[in-house]
Amino acid sequence: MRKIAPIVAALGLSICISLSPQRGKTASQNSTSIVAFTPNTNSGQRGTVISDVNDSDEFLQNAIRARGPDRDYSQKIESLLKQMTVKEKVGQMTQLTLEMIVSGHDQNIQIDPAKLQKAIGQYGVGSIINCYNQALTADKWQDIVTQIQATAKKTRLGIPVIYGIDSIHGANYVQGSTLFPQELGMAATWNPDLMKRGAEISAMETRAVGIPWSFSPVLDVGRQPLWPRFWETFGEDPYLAKVMGAAFVRGMEGSDVSSQDHVAVSLKHYLGYSFPLNGTDRTSAWIPENYLREYFLPTFAAAIQGGAHTVMVNSGDINGVPAHANHHILTDILRDELGFQGFVVSDWADIKRLVRDWRVAADEKEATRMAVMAGVDMSMVPTDYSFPDLLEALVKEGRVPESRIDEAVRRILRVKFELGLFTDAMPHADLKSKIGLAQSRQIALQAAQESITLLKNTNNLLPLRKDQRVLVTGPTADSLISLNNGWTYVWQGSEPSLYPKDRPTIRRAIETKLGGANFTYVPGTKITRRAGSPSNSTPTNIDEEVDIQAAVAAAQNSDVVVLCLGEGSYCETPGTISDLTLAAPQLKLAEAIEATGKPVVIVLAEGRPRIINRIVDSAGAIVMAYNPGNEGGQAIADALFGDINPSGKLPFTYPRTVNGLITYDHRAFETEGDRSVMKPQFEFGDGLSYTSFQYSDLRLAKPAISGSEELTVSVTMTNSGKRAGKEVAQLYVTELVASIAPAGKRLRRFAKIYLEPGQSRTLNFKLRREDLSFIGNDNKPVAEPGDFEVLIGGLMQRFTLK
Ligand code: BGC
Repeated sequence: MRKIAPIVAALGLSICISLSPQRGKTASQNSTSIVAFTPNTNSGQRGTVISDVNDSDEFLQNAIRARGPDRDYSQKIESLLKQMTVKEKVGQMTQLTLEMIVSGHDQNIQIDPAKLQKAIGQYGVGSIINCYNQALTADKWQDIVTQIQATAKKTRLGIPVIYGIDSIHGANYVQGSTLFPQELGMAATWNPDLMKRGAEISAMETRAVGIPWSFSPVLDVGRQPLWPRFWETFGEDPYLAKVMGAAFVRGMEGSDVSSQDHVAVSLKHYLGYSFPLNGTDRTSAWIPENYLREYFLPTFAAAIQGGAHTVMVNSGDINGVPAHANHHILTDILRDELGFQGFVVSDWADIKRLVRDWRVAADEKEATRMAVMAGVDMSMVPTDYSFPDLLEALVKEGRVPESRIDEAVRRILRVKFELGLFTDAMPHADLKSKIGLAQSRQIALQAAQESITLLKNTNNLLPLRKDQRVLVTGPTADSLISLNNGWTYVWQGSEPSLYPKDRPTIRRAIETKLGGANFTYVPGTKITRRAGSPSNSTPTNIDEEVDIQAAVAAAQNSDVVVLCLGEGSYCETPGTISDLTLAAPQLKLAEAIEATGKPVVIVLAEGRPRIINRIVDSAGAIVMAYNPGNEGGQAIADALFGDINPSGKLPFTYPRTVNGLITYDHRAFETEGDRSVMKPQFEFGDGLSYTSFQYSDLRLAKPAISGSEELTVSVTMTNSGKRAGKEVAQLYVTELVASIAPAGKRLRRFAKIYLEPGQSRTLNFKLRREDLSFIGNDNKPVAEPGDFEVLIGGLMQRFTLK
């Protein structure tokens, strides 16, 4: 396993540079000695190893710079290409699901030798993906991958298969793996170093079973909360998502992707997938190109600069052109502008959907031609052999030039070489011991703890005391499913029997803290799943009342109620809903509990902001937990009882009303005066602490900059409360006048800082001209001269760009 200490040390060193001794007034402000990790006894961040000081820009630049070496495999690739038939070439471009080569079900699946021979021996298929329908043991995975690679080795040219899997929040299709918060929760940590560590562990546990490729991270920016994949994103802000995405890529790919603890990533879903006009999955987005570049491209551009090896295509369309047939996006921008060297894989059956759904092609043969000519290098077919058959015919008929096929195969072979598969494609038995290590679980716990976001805490209701009588109620209180959401052991995350028995739900973790006497649990309501296979038109989860009156009676005998609300699990299209309002039975339970007059702490375990305006005012405290993973129950209980000090910040704008969907970077006037109907319930970047922080001395090094000059912005942060804690300094820039109506403000830097009570630190951020630019009407970045404001923690200073 990679050693943790050197990584932290290296990072700490680079970060120290951006922080200077401060000039504040408190006694314990000896801040010249900023170190990567300050052992933290006061806030209960037990046993952590992660740096608590991250300057987002330094982190980003380092993450990009640390990409692996560009090794030259061209001779080997050309020599193979020369020997390959057209059939072998289109085989390499074909990806099938595991179901195509196994028989049996669930844990009893076995490789079917005849099916395997057809796929690998006869068709020379280049890639196999995913589990059949549920997570497998490491032994089973190693056995499957071994048989696939052994068969590939026996083919004429012995080209290894690249096995790919959705390791979304850990190696979630490997039994016993470490599971982290989903991306939205990771974004709420505002701690890219923690994201990188999590991704390193996910990669290590994926590669440990012999799988060298993950279909993550999701780099779609979550600006439409109805979209059922909102929780798979790093939230609404392109800059935060870019930094977290680059951290994910570096963690997964390391600086040598061929090593046995790293995997190649797939950046998805390129481009514009997350912003469907009507909020439902895999439907149309209307995004003008300047906005596509402003909001949706930066995450991909940074990850590609960081050396990411593959890209997966958006299943939807932009302005009427399905991404799978969009040459401008897949070739002009991705290749010619961004210089992407890896290969592009389609999403699930999306070439077929060019015919069936999008109707831009009359038949699958034409769809295949369109997609390949637009820039798709590999087709996730994934359940038949239509793609290689049709593509071979197209090449023979001259409708797809062989040179285009060669280009795609070169890219695929290069990734296989870079992964080291030509020399070592077989799983290593000894790597299995790296799965689910105690220290990995500790990092997952820290990630869950740092994601917890305290949105309301009237009269310091939290932290709770252990001598209080606590009622725990609500449908997410006793559910690991709600803590994890989709991509957990099965696609929909919905199979209770597959979850580990030794991870506490919120209910169990609170019960352990309190002991039996002061603890009561009454479900109140429940969330069940609709029977049968998920449909695209009916919500997957059903909310029902169980015993609301019993919960009310128990509340009356308690000092405080922990009311756990939110969602069940869902993934992709089956998660579509038409109303963001929290389910009616949950609101009924909440209102009945609040009517008792007992103090209520609402805990939200949900993948998107469900509307709760009816129950916010009467709640004493509100805690957003997102989908924190298997360690989430513990993390939530730790936060509720003050064993940790919450430090998460909302990575999206929490709407107050179903139609009040707005992002923080809206135009300033949009929530002012009469337009306050759009005022969010909670703002992007919000998150309270059990201590208080003050910002002072916001200074700009110069009143004006020109050319390529940098602007140094410094600010002092002080922990003015009584306990240690972490605070995220958020630097926003506002452009006062611009040729395209400017956003009210835009996040441009952040840093998560640990401070002891009374301690102060001064941060120095450096802004470059590009941080002041936007995409103009001509679709090019422009930094227009004029006045700007810098905002940090309620302070503001102005400067001029010349
Ligand atoms: C999803 C992708 C995923 C792929 C393979 C598709 O339906 O959109 O995100 O990687 O399936 O499981």
